[in-house]
Amino acid sequence: MFENRIQRAKSETLFEEAKAYFPGGVNSPVRAFKSVSGAPLFIKKGDGFTITDEDNNTYTDFCNSWGPLILGHNNKQIKEAVFETIENGMSFGTPTAHGNELGKFILDHNRYIDRLRFVSSGTEAVMSAIRLARGYTQKDKIVKFDGCYHGHVDSLMVKAGSGLATFGVSTSAGIPEAFAKETIVLPLNDEEAVENCLKEHGHEIACIIIEPVPANNGLLIQRKEYLEFLRAVCTKYNVLLIFDEVISGFRVGFEGAAGYYDIQPDLITYGKIIGGGLPVGAFGGTKEIMDHVAPLGAVYQAGTLSANPVAMTAGLACLKQLVDPSFYKMMEDQTAYLADQLEAHAKSKGYTLNVARIGSIFWLCFSEETIRTSSAIQAESMEYFKVLHHELLQTGVYLGPSGYEVGFLSKALAEDQAHLDLAISKMKDALDIAFSAVSA
Ligand SMILES: *Cc1c(COP(=O)(O)O)cnc(C)c1O
Repeated sequence: MFENRIQRAKSETLFEEAKAYFPGGVNSPVRAFKSVSGAPLFIKKGDGFTITDEDNNTYTDFCNSWGPLILGHNNKQIKEAVFETIENGMSFGTPTAHGNELGKFILDHNRYIDRLRFVSSGTEAVMSAIRLARGYTQKDKIVKFDGCYHGHVDSLMVKAGSGLATFGVSTSAGIPEAFAKETIVLPLNDEEAVENCLKEHGHEIACIIIEPVPANNGLLIQRKEYLEFLRAVCTKYNVLLIFDEVISGFRVGFEGAAGYYDIQPDLITYGKIIGGGLPVGAFGGTKEIMDHVAPLGAVYQAGTLSANPVAMTAGLACLKQLVDPSFYKMMEDQTAYLADQLEAHAKSKGYTLNVARIGSIFWLCFSEETIRTSSAIQAESMEYFKVLHHELLQTGVYLGPSGYEVGFLSKALAEDQAHLDLAISKMKDALDIAFSAVSA
């Protein structure tokens, strides 16, 4: 079933070599292709909507570095801006005008935050926002939701305890039970669970953190009323609401999910797109809350390479190309087109498939109904994805290597109707093969 019709010898050799250097041959686990077949591709080049591997196979890319590359690969304006900045050196550990420019540009176009702090990854942004919420409220416990990912932060690598246990248990070795116990894990899309939890524990809870567009465990789009409910109930119990917008920020709109749903969280975290392909994260909120961060306030947070000038330049060159609302409309329209085409094909063939989508994010969900909680995802449905993923590699389409990962449309592909149509037609063919293989 998983024969390779394309040459992948170089990727395979490099992967074997990498195993001698890195645990599992990778520097981030999902890259290892463990939930699909074969060795990971070693990519040597990206251009527009394509990536090319070491064996010279070219793929239309729907992963886009897991989301940061909303414009596509090797964007001309970003590249030129980076080259210009790099002429003057790479890092000073001092404030720079580049940091001001990116900070100003974001704050000028975002009604939901009025102070920012730059960091170097999404994980760091979330970790810092949680500390700030605890420092600001002087409370220790936090609430997260089953099915949301917030980076590899100790207190967020936690799942619900079994049975009636309120407090979480860690999902990684190396996290002290005492940390996991400070995290309460609730199901998504369940108002009553949140209300009951806050009624009982609100006085010890610093914050509720949610991916307002949960996109790390399938795409579990929440009802707007549910997100509004979270806002109201957090205010009622004096708990901060944190939107983790590391994926949704600058993706579902320039103002992210806060703007998309018009909901004012207390803190927002960013990553991925904000750095235009270089390592940048940020957290932001009102001046009142953010002034609790050092050196003004008592919540310590720092970073040697924070607001690195080269990364700031890349972020600014990227965000400047996104700010026009017609850009987001075009991206959403083309993603709807892709989803509709695939759904219509599945319907005509009698396949169980619905394509969840929001903005330029989509997820192939091998289920009849709309899924809003992680427990509703059927593990068996991933068998279809495995075949689909393999088939698409054979025909030159790259999806992230797990059925729990979402796809991202890039501007480069959205604007090229012929190649978008070609990718869709390859996806239809791969669906035919997946459904005949798994059903057989
Ligand atoms: C990717 C992601 C993170 C972690 O960001 P890194 O840059 O990988 O550390 C955190 N939260 C969400 C919602 C993410 O999608």
